[in-house]
Amino acid sequence: MDDRQKKVLLRVRGLKKWFPIHRGITSRVAGYVKAVDDVSYDVYQGETLGLVGESGCGKTTLARTSLRLLEPTAGEIQFDGQDFRALGRRELRQARKNMQIVFQDPFGSLHPKMKIGRIIEEPLIISGVKDKAARRKRVEELIVRAGLKTEHLDRYPHEFSGGQRQRVVIARALATNPKLIICDEPVSALDVSVRSQILNLLEELQESLGLTYLFISHDLSVVEHICDRVAVMYLGQMVELGTREQIYGGMLHPYTKALLSAIPLAGGEKRERIALEGDIPSPAKPPEGCRFHTRCPYVAEVCKTVPPFEDAGEGHRVACHRWRELAGTK
Ligand code: SF4
Repeated sequence: MDDRQKKVLLRVRGLKKWFPIHRGITSRVAGYVKAVDDVSYDVYQGETLGLVGESGCGKTTLARTSLRLLEPTAGEIQFDGQDFRALGRRELRQARKNMQIVFQDPFGSLHPKMKIGRIIEEPLIISGVKDKAARRKRVEELIVRAGLKTEHLDRYPHEFSGGQRQRVVIARALATNPKLIICDEPVSALDVSVRSQILNLLEELQESLGLTYLFISHDLSVVEHICDRVAVMYLGQMVELGTREQIYGGMLHPYTKALLSAIPLAGGEKRERIALEGDIPSPAKPPEGCRFHTRCPYVAEVCKTVPPFEDAGEGHRVACHRWRELAGTK
């Protein structure tokens, strides 16, 4: 199916999230941390879109701002055809039923003094399901759907392993029948042995419930396993976006090449490792022109200007002046 035939669930245009930096006794605004700076992208219904990049590149801020869990500084957001930025507080609360988050840390995201049944029930209460028996029935369905048993509902979070707790988090996220789930590093805190079980559960649920995932991860092997498309972020901006095959088989941006050079090819073959020089610059003072130019091995005079985020063909987008010349280099 080509991109024009797919239904866009989330459409984001020119999104910015700047955090003011306050200085002095008057707390005057001395500048901004440009955590997300002019990002445009679509999420298609039923897909898993991966967001990757080094820590601090803005992945989590982009996901949260896209759902107004953080209020945007500028930009347009459409969710399921609705102008999401125009919603008032009450309408927003209603719309939030359609979107949930699964956090990285299943230990910190469950109230230690609440029983599992109550934890899963809570979103139903908040969203106004008044009938207690109906809530209980739904909670029982959800715990089983997440791979646990109804007898677990009367236990406390500390009685569970990390993988089981993440199943509880997933059951809670499903309570309101959401359309979109942000999975924010959902398996990074888990033992390697249980990671694939949780990833398989997410895939099964997507298949059976038609869910859409925005999947944030620093682990490029996990992203390759689960995502249909991948967006690469660098210093608050998207630098490349494409299908899994376009990114893993034919990445165009030098930053993506450097990130992927760290993971082995299928069959264990190694890519030539590209080591990035220097630290990621501060988003309070991003470099002029191409933001990656201070670390790019291919920097040239042209890189003093901002590269457009252009279509390199078949929906594969890249922000690099030199992508044509560099295509085919690994
Ligand atoms: Fe490197 Fe220039 Fe491309 Fe930026 S625009 S990624 S500095 S080659």
